[in-house]
Amino acid sequence: MESVSSLEEWRRWCEAVRRSGRTVGLVPTMGALHAGHSSLVRAAVDAGDAVVMSIFVNPRQFEDVGDLSSYPSTPEEDATVAEASGVDLLVRPSLRQMWPRYPEPTPTTVRVSGVSEPFEGEARPGHFDGVASVVAKLLTVTGPCRLYMGEKDFQQVAVVRQFVDDLGFAVDVRACPTVRDEDGLALSSRNRRLSAPGRVRALALSRVLQILARDEWTPGAVRQHLRSVLSEADLPLEYAEVVRPDTLEPWPDGSEGVGRILVAVRVDGVRLIDNGPVILVKGA
Ligand code: AMP
Repeated sequence: MESVSSLEEWRRWCEAVRRSGRTVGLVPTMGALHAGHSSLVRAAVDAGDAVVMSIFVNPRQFEDVGDLSSYPSTPEEDATVAEASGVDLLVRPSLRQMWPRYPEPTPTTVRVSGVSEPFEGEARPGHFDGVASVVAKLLTVTGPCRLYMGEKDFQQVAVVRQFVDDLGFAVDVRACPTVRDEDGLALSSRNRRLSAPGRVRALALSRVLQILARDEWTPGAVRQHLRSVLSEADLPLEYAEVVRPDTLEPWPDGSEGVGRILVAVRVDGVRLIDNGPVILVKGA
């Protein structure tokens, strides 16, 4: 595995790979790597890509300064995990290279309307502007590639798909399934901030998604079930909704198909998000 930090070396490496006839697969991360990140690398390896992983904790997507300062950093372990997973080029760009003016505002922002507005967009104002801007920059340096992202951050994938499509990036966006711990909790760098009892309470999140994935439900029954299970588990709910997977609009009553449940709760002061599919029927 090679490691670089300059945008120029990174750009040249990707150009050389494409000239040699190979495809580039980009896996953007913020580090504190776990098996969820490794699964994205594996998907890229399986597709035959030369795999570039970026590690950059992007301050522009943190609306909460405390969340940014407490974000875990494990650089040595990350290099080991990246290499073992099959990364060919590990890129750790500096803040100066990515956002030279920071903490002054960067004049250019990629802002997506529609899919970025509800849910995480409402709970974390400016978050998706930061995400879209950083991913756009990572894609610009990388050039034409496949982009691997986790379904764990379902709305994030929708936001990125939207601007990739609207702005004509030569990028094939691939969403990969959520990797979970044995007990069902979706892997997240934030899980390490949970207390032992908090972690047990958090399991209600994946449990309710599992139950809802098994059967057919009306949209009303899904919403009711989500609310009752999460309040019984004493998990303060930020949002829980069943939506159309492409537009993220609330699933319309009386229409059938496969919807997506999006949920966010707060445990031990940590925001946890999860999502899963559900089959929707009209009901009696
Ligand atoms: P992050 O480092 O949290 O910004 O995540 C980097 C990428 O890994 C994003 O595309 C995430 O959606 C993805 N990811 C995070 N957790 C998981 C997981 N448990 N399963 C699959 N992908 C994940």
